[in-house]
Amino acid sequence: MSIPRFAKSSFSKAAWYAYNTYRKGINFRTQLSEIDALNNSPRDTIFAYQQRRLNQLIIHAYQTTPFYRQHLSGFEPSQNISKDNIDISDILPLEKQTIREQLEDLCSESVSPKQRIKNATGGSTGTPLTFYQDRNYWNQRNLSVYYFDRWTGWDFGLSQLIIWGALADLEETGNWKQKLNNYWRNQFWLNGFQLTESAMHNTFHKMENIKPETILAYPSSLYQYAKFLSDNELEPKCQLRGIISSAEMLHPHYRTLAETVFNTKVYNRYGGREVGLIAMECAEGRMHINCRDIYLEIDSEEPYKTPGDILITQLNNYAMPFIRYRIGDIGLLSDEMCPCGNQLPVLGELLGRSTATFRTKDGELIHGGYFTQQFYDLVGVSQFQLIQESLDQCILKLVRNEHWNEETRTYILQIIQTALGSDVSVRVEDVDEIALPKSGKREYTISKVTEFS
Ligand SMILES: [Zn+2]
Repeated sequence: MSIPRFAKSSFSKAAWYAYNTYRKGINFRTQLSEIDALNNSPRDTIFAYQQRRLNQLIIHAYQTTPFYRQHLSGFEPSQNISKDNIDISDILPLEKQTIREQLEDLCSESVSPKQRIKNATGGSTGTPLTFYQDRNYWNQRNLSVYYFDRWTGWDFGLSQLIIWGALADLEETGNWKQKLNNYWRNQFWLNGFQLTESAMHNTFHKMENIKPETILAYPSSLYQYAKFLSDNELEPKCQLRGIISSAEMLHPHYRTLAETVFNTKVYNRYGGREVGLIAMECAEGRMHINCRDIYLEIDSEEPYKTPGDILITQLNNYAMPFIRYRIGDIGLLSDEMCPCGNQLPVLGELLGRSTATFRTKDGELIHGGYFTQQFYDLVGVSQFQLIQESLDQCILKLVRNEHWNEETRTYILQIIQTALGSDVSVRVEDVDEIALPKSGKREYTISKVTEFS
């Protein structure tokens, strides 16, 4: 069943349009072009739109959710709440714990329980978090993904290789429904949970055959696949337009290897199941904030200078408003105008999970990636996981191989103690393997010291 490439992508493009028209309404393509227009507007226009949506959301939350009715009781609807600019910084950040304890009170009374769509995070760092979204949230979320994925060379109908490992997303792989979806979407998969040599070999040959235009991947799985190809001197011949890295931290060494092996740019897409797409990397390597859907703040005295917790307000989810939600990542703002020409504001730095951010006794923050970068290619170490238990103690789990020697141990301890303090004790535990958590997101570094000093 060899169908010419062009015919396959034309068919798939038509199928994508039909599907989206069915799901999002007859004016689907108008909606897309409106997003194009807004996201390519001057920064002031974007901010004005965002502020309007923010005000609407807060008024909605105040009027229809028991939680915000109580917590915004300082706002008088006749006075502050209807002002043009509500000072959002007066509202307490929304914590994961609050969602766990007061889920029902956070839901809007104007959206019936039947219209709510239940969702949950994978719980890579602990208990899964359950929450609700509505149809409009999902429509807008998908439209934004389409818009931003086009920055990478993706478009409706173009063939894509997906390297993904979340159990929840993979459960349906293999059944006829998934096969049908894969067919009309013009995509094929490499299961990030089963990156066996034969699966990777197979995918390499499929790539040579199908010649995908883009790859969408978990960065850790992408890295593993790229490393396999490079170690086996398998050189992909297809000319990719770009690679989208999503759902976990894109470490610099992942990017470097993938860009070399696949001879194309890797674009970092930052988001979360709770709030959708937050920021997307452009061709110039800057992370642009998705202001149409998101209002992003940094919980820091100097958000342009000192990194802090990222707070997200989701502007489209009226079933359950997320206002100043502490998503668990650390970042920094930037006031730069990006040379790519797009005026969506730029996230200065994305330092990753706050649970992977280490703290020293002096209050300094060190991103876990600092350790990952120095340990990942150490001779003698097959796998590692560094856990900061307290300000005084770390545990280092190691899967050693036959090249291990005591110099490596000294080197590792030196790196940790130089970064965290010479009096920090490091307990080394030898293990046979470091299991992948259910979410599929490999955690090289975990810090249990979460409070800011
Ligand atoms: Zn840019």
